[in-house]
Amino acid sequence: MIIVLKKGATEQEIEHVAERIKSLGLAVHISKGKERTIMGAIGDEEKLSALPLEAIPGVESVVPILKPYKLVSREFRKEASVVDVLGVRFGETEVVVIAGPCSVENKESIVDAAKKVKAAGAKVLRGGAFKPRTSPYDFQGLGIEGLKLLQEAKKATGLPIISELMDPRDTELLCEYVDIIQIGARNMQNFRLLTEAGRTKKPVLLKRGLSATIKEFLMSAEYIAAQGNANIILCERGIRTFETATRNTLDLSAVPVLKEETHLPIVVDPSHAVGRWALVGPLALAAVAVGADGLMIEVHPDPENALCDGAQSLKPAKFAHLMEDVKKVALAIGRRV
Ligand code: PEP
Ligand code: MN
Repeated sequence: MIIVLKKGATEQEIEHVAERIKSLGLAVHISKGKERTIMGAIGDEEKLSALPLEAIPGVESVVPILKPYKLVSREFRKEASVVDVLGVRFGETEVVVIAGPCSVENKESIVDAAKKVKAAGAKVLRGGAFKPRTSPYDFQGLGIEGLKLLQEAKKATGLPIISELMDPRDTELLCEYVDIIQIGARNMQNFRLLTEAGRTKKPVLLKRGLSATIKEFLMSAEYIAAQGNANIILCERGIRTFETATRNTLDLSAVPVLKEETHLPIVVDPSHAVGRWALVGPLALAAVAVGADGLMIEVHPDPENALCDGAQSLKPAKFAHLMEDVKKVALAIGRRV
């Protein structure tokens, strides 16, 4: 249920409405917009029927949320929400670019990558420390050592950092190092992990599962939001289809569909979608054209010798060229990089 409060409702009135709802055993999530405050009452809505909400001072109207995802739905919040990561804002006019290698390999390489992607206009540095690999014999990431190296790269460039959380037991540790928690495609429905990420209040970038529908994707985001963490960035990274020409099939229609369904910002990762560096550029441009709030692109100083995903990684110079084109497309649709 959504409770829309009157324009100018006082803090006291808002608090009172929240207390009345909580006393019935429902959870309350408050969203303060520019114009007015909206309250989401989540739980057994039957219990609310005993409460004449519209009679409480400060309440303007009460509307049911019809979608199964509540807090992340457009019904709950009409305005686009903005996720702020140390001043880098996802969900506004700027198209925010996250770039860096698939995994952190050594200090020299991650600092080099960080400096180069920053010079080209990236605003966040990526780098996996805990890697979800299909084969147990492949490089699994440097773990905590990788997180420390990401910190070095942050110190050298000032770029906020994002890295993947694979195990709920590492949540606290990861949060000491990263500015955005990444939940990978393979863990999109790891509900314990989502719950832990939701408890942290850190920005979370949630990647779409390999075979997840948009509804399932948003239900996973709801798990994070239900814990009180509304700092969620969605990431479309390609889905499994019958097509084998590319690693996955980038579902670009997910971007405008998600814009209708949710107020959360959406970024697109063309690298994991296509799996080949030569195809990354065109899809990155298309993603911006369809309204993505950001991009995640794998860039490696030496893709030929990368320990992970070298085939889809752009060399820094190629990335810099691509960024010039990204700027042009962004400008053409009234955005900027
Ligand atoms: C990644 O971004 O490092 C990654 C493993 O991507 P995905 O979870 O989308 O496969
Ligand atoms: Mn990768």
